[in-house]
Amino acid sequence: MSAQILDLFPVVVKPFLAKSEQETVVEPVSAKINLLDLDRKGLETFFTNLGEKKFRAQQMIQWIHQRGIDDVESMSDLGKKLRLCLQESTEIRAPEIVKEQGSADGTYKWLLRLEGGNHIETVFIPEKERGTLCVSSQIGCALNCTFCSTATQGFNRNLTVAEIIGQVWQASRRLKILGSNVKITNVVMMGMGEPLLNYDAVIKAMSLMRDDHAYALPARRVTLSTSGVVPYIERLSREADVALAISLHAPNDTLRTSLVPINKKYPIAMLMAACHQFVNDKRGRHVVIEYVMLKDVNDSEREAKQLVKLLAGLPCKINLIPFNPFLGAEYKRSTPEAIDAFSRRLKKAGFITTVRKTRGDDIDAACGQLVGKMMDRTKRNARFLAKQGVAHG
Ligand code: SAH
Repeated sequence: MSAQILDLFPVVVKPFLAKSEQETVVEPVSAKINLLDLDRKGLETFFTNLGEKKFRAQQMIQWIHQRGIDDVESMSDLGKKLRLCLQESTEIRAPEIVKEQGSADGTYKWLLRLEGGNHIETVFIPEKERGTLCVSSQIGCALNCTFCSTATQGFNRNLTVAEIIGQVWQASRRLKILGSNVKITNVVMMGMGEPLLNYDAVIKAMSLMRDDHAYALPARRVTLSTSGVVPYIERLSREADVALAISLHAPNDTLRTSLVPINKKYPIAMLMAACHQFVNDKRGRHVVIEYVMLKDVNDSEREAKQLVKLLAGLPCKINLIPFNPFLGAEYKRSTPEAIDAFSRRLKKAGFITTVRKTRGDDIDAACGQLVGKMMDRTKRNARFLAKQGVAHG
């Protein structure tokens, strides 16, 4: 195999972040190139290196992503010689679905097995006019937000491009088989993990979600949600055309640092500056501000007023998320009255404000409830369980 082809394996980036936030190397278990790891650019390089024309990349994208095919033999327009060569040196391997749960409200949750014995969850939420797939970007999460159950699990590693786009690939195939009349029209990077701490893989996977010959989703329908890794928001705004959601959750630094610890490194003023930059770069766009509603923590009139002041002049929509409890959580969900009063204040100040409906409650598929099954490299899970008085094992 040529060095150039080897270069196409999942790339490991060394970001300029603290050690706890850095990526983990994924050693490929097979010597074959997983074609799911390659976006259009990667496939073009791959085929050019094989002495083939660039348009092969588009054919391959259509076979894999549009038609959901993982068997090179059935790719009839590739020619026999090329098919043979691909069979020898490549594979199309997505994470395997090991469990499927359907909720009474139509939500589906899939448990996917990854290399190395870890598992992640992917959720599909059908609505009247859209179908939203909630995709994970990491196994666990390193950020330790105090109200998120993924945080209690600790962190294992970043997902590869194949593992991220593989969630969309598997979900589309399953929905076809299940005869669902709602298709995937939106993808939100709101599953496990902090997508901006797995920047390169997430960008490539999102470029496939957007690619006209893959999933063809418009920019406003592919949303990256971040807890606020400011340097990467700035990069994202320059390098990708997708929607941005910010997990703000608090209108002042003291409160935000207690909920979203990365705020200590990138405080609210820096985060807001990055949001303004984003909407300036993408003229006509807004950002989505996510705000989890925690009883007696961040849901009073005082915080509503501070939020109005903070967001003044930023083209944004505010999404209030009623807190989803989990075992051992130290918070309670705000009362419906408190959420309503908070929302009315924001609306009165002119902000488009929505309250996120909790979906898939009966199958633990709601925000912050996706846990997967993973080996925690940070030992945070053991500490959390010990605190709860639960034996680890
Ligand atoms: N790391 C990214 C994306 C993952 S979380 C981020 O922070 O944005 C997706 C959204 O669900 C975030 O807004 C997150 O703060 C919210 N969330 C996490 N746990 C939650 C919980 N228990 N209840 C409600 N929302 C939660």
